[in-house]
Amino acid sequence: MENCIFCKIAAGIIPSSKVFEDDRVFAFRDIHPQAPTHVLIIPKKHYADLAELDLRDQQLMGYLLHVAVKLARGEAIEQKGYRVAINCGPEGGQMVQHIHLHLLGGRELTGELG
Ligand code: 5GP
Ligand code: ZN
Repeated sequence: MENCIFCKIAAGIIPSSKVFEDDRVFAFRDIHPQAPTHVLIIPKKHYADLAELDLRDQQLMGYLLHVAVKLARGEAIEQKGYRVAINCGPEGGQMVQHIHLHLLGGRELTGELG
């Protein structure tokens, strides 16, 4: 996607603090971290939001979750706990129109989700 900031990050055109990359996935630290660990995990393929997914994408989305759990282990937050979140649409708080998982941890997160 030409004007997508996260596509550009995954392609290395915009620099980021990368924590993981393979053929399907790119993970990097959020520029405005909301917790000591705040990593964004994205598919390299562009999807604007959850609504663009169909059943054929279930394996990819499962894989993104698998990567999130693996990174939580690497960040040493697995034991104490963490949160994985996906925002969708304006009222869901989605600012960047490229699907991304937030991996948050390293502090006690509030019980509130919104
Ligand atoms: P959203 O609100 O769409 O769920 O989350 C977008 C996230 O992307 C925000 O937490 C924001 O700080 C992060 N972000 C936006 N632009 C950039 C950027 O250029 N680099 C990085 N590393 N994070 C970004
Ligand atoms: Zn994109």
